[in-house]
Amino acid sequence: MENRWRDEEAEQFVEKYGARWGLDVALRTYSSRLLGSEEALVLHGGGNTSVKGTHTNILGESVPAIFVKASGFDMGTIEPEGHPGLDLASLRKLRALADLDDQQMMDEFRARLFNPRAATPSLETLVHAFLPPKFIDHTHADAILALTNQTGGEKLIREVLGDEVIVLPYIRPGFKLAKAVAAAYEASPQARGMVWMKHGMVTWGQTAQQAYSTMIELVSRAEDSVAKRATNPLRVAVQTPLEAASKRVVQVAPILRGLLAEPSGDPDRPYRRAILLPLTTREILDFVNSDRGRELALTPPLTSDHLIRTKGLPLWVDAPHYDDPAKLREQLSKAIQDYSAQYDAYVARHAANIPVGVAPFDSQPQVVLMPGLGALCAGKDVQAARIARDITAHTLAVKSRVAAMGSYEGLSEEHLFEMEYHSFQQAKLGASEEPALAREVALVTGAAGAIGSAICEGLLEQGCHVAATDLAEDALKSLVDTLRTRYGERALGVPLDVTDPASVVQAFAAVIETWGGIDLVVVNAGIAMVAPLAELSLESFRKLERVNVEGTLLVISEAGRHFKTQGTGGDIVLVSTKNVFAPGAKFGAYSATKAAAHQLARIASLELAELGVRVNMVSPDAVFAHGGRKSGLWAEVGPDRMRARGLDEKGLEEYYRQRNLLKAAVTARHVANAVLFFATRQTPTTGATLPVDGGLPDATPR
Ligand code: ZN
Repeated sequence: MENRWRDEEAEQFVEKYGARWGLDVALRTYSSRLLGSEEALVLHGGGNTSVKGTHTNILGESVPAIFVKASGFDMGTIEPEGHPGLDLASLRKLRALADLDDQQMMDEFRARLFNPRAATPSLETLVHAFLPPKFIDHTHADAILALTNQTGGEKLIREVLGDEVIVLPYIRPGFKLAKAVAAAYEASPQARGMVWMKHGMVTWGQTAQQAYSTMIELVSRAEDSVAKRATNPLRVAVQTPLEAASKRVVQVAPILRGLLAEPSGDPDRPYRRAILLPLTTREILDFVNSDRGRELALTPPLTSDHLIRTKGLPLWVDAPHYDDPAKLREQLSKAIQDYSAQYDAYVARHAANIPVGVAPFDSQPQVVLMPGLGALCAGKDVQAARIARDITAHTLAVKSRVAAMGSYEGLSEEHLFEMEYHSFQQAKLGASEEPALAREVALVTGAAGAIGSAICEGLLEQGCHVAATDLAEDALKSLVDTLRTRYGERALGVPLDVTDPASVVQAFAAVIETWGGIDLVVVNAGIAMVAPLAELSLESFRKLERVNVEGTLLVISEAGRHFKTQGTGGDIVLVSTKNVFAPGAKFGAYSATKAAAHQLARIASLELAELGVRVNMVSPDAVFAHGGRKSGLWAEVGPDRMRARGLDEKGLEEYYRQRNLLKAAVTARHVANAVLFFATRQTPTTGATLPVDGGLPDATPR
């Protein structure tokens, strides 16, 4: 492992943060980021770091302080606020206590924060406070876990790292671990670091660089030793090609996602869904296809810190029936039921040890392993699913290394349970209110236009994962770039030609391969043209027909098939038009083809209701732009209507405003709000049309 410390970079951190936060916290931020950016050391919020220094209080007095990483912060991107300061002297006095439970300990931490509004410090804060050196680094390094998590691991780690490190048996993080660590350090003050069996590594130093460099040096030695000893690799009889695994993901993910959705008891929104991310690398495929894959996968996790992200055990599906969809569904359903029953039994066995105020987790698996496919990892959103996926990738890699050296040995069930049902761990997951469309996935067609882009934004604001699709690739790319800077990886761009059946199938598959399934389809792609019937060529008419009618049919049909496979209902919203009810002269091709699309959506509401799918329409009057995005309708209609009425751009907008009852200017955002009304299922409604037109009596649906 490379030592990435660079004096110039350290100096930059001091320049950036030193004046406000002090030299110690500036350097602490730098080396924490170095540790956090190394996946083989810490993953997503794992590990913690601290520095001891001073704090100047409001009276100008200098008080001994410790700055400890707060729970839930990711070291790879940590800012100085991620290391809140506490009163060191009074924390150290706690060592005199015989015991301290977690809740009390957390209260004691909060009471000793210099800033009462700061984030709650790590569960391992007292380890940091009781150890004398200035800088303390703690990681869950893969190579250390590979050595400690095996039969005879303690002997092995002593052999590899010698007397320079102290080795402690597994002790659950909390007050007892902190006391044991302090006592062990005092017995061997010359040691350079400490290994905690089945947990991780601690190093220290008087400078940030020293603590960090010791970590890298010791972990590198462990890595070399693992590489040398791994002489009996897993054997793979049949390799699955990556492409075959991807195809199976598209086949399996919607079924699995449907089966993993939890009933909510709310008839309007009957399921709490999950986002499913696939893990289909060569390494993972070889693991699940190997002779010892099953046995190894069903061993306890590497470290108890990973539990709340992945649960203690994955679900393993033996010999999946990929070539028989009905059998496959039955097989997955049974496997999930068995898993849930086993999880419930595990919780029941330890019910007496659930701390007050801690609620049991759901009993669904978070990681599903399948030979010939790899893994599918679930989370409440793409971020949570990604954490589960990254932990799974590291876990399986380390387990296969251990198996190549000896035999894997994880934590006991008691230890796992006490960590999983730990108030601190649950705090990490955050119990904050979820936005209305978190856990859901939408596909929007014609997304790069004015109305489409506003719909994407509206859905993203409600927590939805949004696949923006369009034929116009440049416009789509610029939209998705903008959306990703605001909403991160919940925005995805997928090229789609709605008139091409293969393109529709591919676009659905691309979204399923990214997030596991789709719950809402917004049929928005459409084109317009201006011509009186007498001058309308058949070719032009057919062009509109292909996009507005056939495109709608293809997208609705594919959505219906997908919703059936997923089995948890769904929503379709068609962006219709006021022209369906009040057609305009010279607008025959548009009005007629949109009327056909509208009728298709109404039929879909009849046919798909039994699947729990709702199909509704919004019918706006003219919308010409959203921000910088002009609508296709504007390009087509604007110039003609301006010419016909002798108006300019502003004048035309004013004309449309004056023709409705409310004298309202209809915006793309209004249309998005109407889509959201249906998408969030405010009323038990299907087959309905919501006008977004400021009130046009001749266009009121009857
Ligand atoms: Zn730890």
